[in-house]
Amino acid sequence: MPMIDYRNLKIAILGGGNVGANVANLLLTHRDELEARVGAGLEVVGVAVRDPAAERTPAIPAELLTTDAHALVTGADIVVELIGGIEPARTLVLEALRAGADVITANKALLATHGEELFEEAAQVGAQLHYEAAVAAAIPIIRPLRESLAGDRIRRILGIVNGSTNFILDKMDTEGWTTEEAMRVASELGYLEADPTLDVEGYDAAQKAAILAGLAFHTRVPVDAVHREGITKVTSDDIAAAKAAGYVVKLLAIAERVRSPLGGEGIVTRVHPALVPREHPLAAVHGGHNAVFVEAEFAGSLMFYGAGAGGVQTASAVLGDIVSAARRHLAGGPGVAESTSADLPILPFDAVSTRYQIVLEVADVPGVLAQVASAFAEHGVSIEQFQQSAARGEDADPTATLVVVTHEARESALAATVEALNGSPAVRRVASVIRVEGL
Ligand code: NAP
Repeated sequence: MPMIDYRNLKIAILGGGNVGANVANLLLTHRDELEARVGAGLEVVGVAVRDPAAERTPAIPAELLTTDAHALVTGADIVVELIGGIEPARTLVLEALRAGADVITANKALLATHGEELFEEAAQVGAQLHYEAAVAAAIPIIRPLRESLAGDRIRRILGIVNGSTNFILDKMDTEGWTTEEAMRVASELGYLEADPTLDVEGYDAAQKAAILAGLAFHTRVPVDAVHREGITKVTSDDIAAAKAAGYVVKLLAIAERVRSPLGGEGIVTRVHPALVPREHPLAAVHGGHNAVFVEAEFAGSLMFYGAGAGGVQTASAVLGDIVSAARRHLAGGPGVAESTSADLPILPFDAVSTRYQIVLEVADVPGVLAQVASAFAEHGVSIEQFQQSAARGEDADPTATLVVVTHEARESALAATVEALNGSPAVRRVASVIRVEGL
């Protein structure tokens, strides 16, 4: 048998943390198998870190560690950016592309904020920029949207793309924990980012939503165009009211095609807590798991489910990108460019029509229901379901809780209704307004 003349591809890994150490370890321990799949040698030429003396799990051979990331990028065929954050990651990715390397990154923050610059650079030099791990870690969702569904028309994406907030909401729903208890345990288990607002205020999910929306609708979606609300206002009472009505509360990243008021279609991308019917597949996503539910015109509904974080799980997605980049590197030709061919208008959040659950605290006196109903009717929001709980408080001044579920209404109509309810003498407090999705 003649020896196969493997070309040797040099792989530089930037970052040897949770993900980087696992990527290096898997590349070294499964080298033969991966080389056979690619048809080329895959040589890890180095791993750039800040502190070479730091302990790493899994360990990285000392001779591979370097603090000179810029030197490592020079001469590499494939550069894997796993540092995170904006700088120096952005500069290093640009340097790598300009030097002719294909680049793999798991950095959603970098892509959501500087994606345009990076994709343009990649297109200019004909290099490939892969980022399967940047959204929902181990779950293959970027390649399905970019390639498998490239012939379809996606109508809507509903994603649970932040594991820590899903853990918190899930424990409140299944174990009856308070928000504070659930947040404390999520923090103790290391589920929350060092700055927890990135998770609980929906910033992380908004970055991922912008990336998914761009891919799904062949349009560049800046992260600033994503409407964002976190989970900090969701209370145990909201979860209980949702449960009683047959729903579960999830933090959803939603990107959808909607009719533009000016004619034609546009897209709206948003992140907020939402009520999901208990029979919807997304309701079964428990703990820190992620899932992306795609509604496509021809394929129908598809759900992608799995681990949305974890060093070795994320490394799996990065390795898939390495194999893919290595194959293209060998085949030659330009990488697949970012697709922005549709360039749909990005519409304001108000263009969306959805259903709502509104929890009201009202005076328990005759005529209240009529006053509440007229506030809805005046703004053209029709009520699907009304539920009243027993009154509590002093006999002379009892308060009842009303849970109202609406039919589909525009965001602006709902906002006007809430304003009217707040001004109504019958209403003591609008306790919460949560959108209903997945119907
Ligand atoms: P991490 O554990 O904090 O690791 C970051 C690594 O980058 C460390 O090894 C650090 O070196 C190195 N580093 C930082 N600044 C550097 C610099 N200036 N020059 C050279 N090296 C530098 O982060 P991670 O969890 O592995 O995440 C990496 C990327 O994957 C991020 O973009 C993250 O968003 C993404 N991601 C992570 C997960 C996950 O579950 N962890 C899931 C999906 C995506 P030292 O070790 O010496 O400090």
